[in-house]
Amino acid sequence: MKFAVTSKGDNVSNSLMQKIKTYLQDFSLEYDEDKPDICISVGGDGTLLYAFHRYRNRLDRTAFVGVHTGHLGFYADWIPEEIEKLVIAIAKTPYQVIEYPLLEVIVRYKDGGKESRYLALNECTVKRAEGTLVVDLEIKGDIFETFRGDGLCISTPSGSTAYNKALNGAILHPSIEAIQITEMASINNRVFRTVGSPLILPSHHTCMIKPVNADDFSITIDHLNIFHSDVKSIQCRVAHEKVRFARFRPFPFWQRVRESFVADE
Ligand code: NAD
Repeated sequence: MKFAVTSKGDNVSNSLMQKIKTYLQDFSLEYDEDKPDICISVGGDGTLLYAFHRYRNRLDRTAFVGVHTGHLGFYADWIPEEIEKLVIAIAKTPYQVIEYPLLEVIVRYKDGGKESRYLALNECTVKRAEGTLVVDLEIKGDIFETFRGDGLCISTPSGSTAYNKALNGAILHPSIEAIQITEMASINNRVFRTVGSPLILPSHHTCMIKPVNADDFSITIDHLNIFHSDVKSIQCRVAHEKVRFARFRPFPFWQRVRESFVADE
């Protein structure tokens, strides 16, 4: 089996990365940074997001596991003291793989040029670099509302505990194939009106964001921020691809939610 290790880049994560690499090579596993079967991310959720985007073209062949060197992460749930146990588990046991849904984002341009396709593990946000975002939101081909405000967040179930949660979105179990749309500070008065509640779309529904006047947007895909101009539409739906996590022990989602947000034991 081939493996790769990514690190957050600080001293603690780097030395842990080196340890994991040496231990796994001692078990005769091959280090392959380009085509790993498993990628061990050492740092935090941000490090795992980075690893996900590094291997997004081989998601069907690379599984991920996260070790956290800071606070408990949603994707990074192993602690440094457990790495001997983790290394032995990786080397010795055929591991279980669990799959989580992803968000597909397609940006199309008015000049009919090449469209841009992205996959997000957490979410996509759409904002204006300057001024209020004014867009039409279509769901399944029908106009749903004209949104005016700071922005829109479209998240995956596993990303529902990230930015989406800060926007009062619901926490979705990652076994649910859906995406969630949440508003960022919508303008609501007697003239302008939005639904105000988070919307959860099933996998066979697509949402389309279309500019009303200004067509330049600041679009984030997880930690990446990309500026797009001349935009005709931004299409979001559940992706065909899934992210695969290597599981070596049970750590139920709701337990992770509780330990992260409610109580730490
Ligand atoms: P960062 O280092 O600022 O991380 C932000 C925090 O989000 C970290 O504490 C991280 O552990 C947590 N996080 C990431 N994914 C999570 C998940 N699925 N569930 C629960 N917590 C999660 O930024 P970064 O490392 O570049 O990560 C980018 C992510 O930051 C984005 O995908 C977005 O979800 C999140 N973010 C959150 C807010 C907010 O909560 N107001 C604002 C901007 C970005």
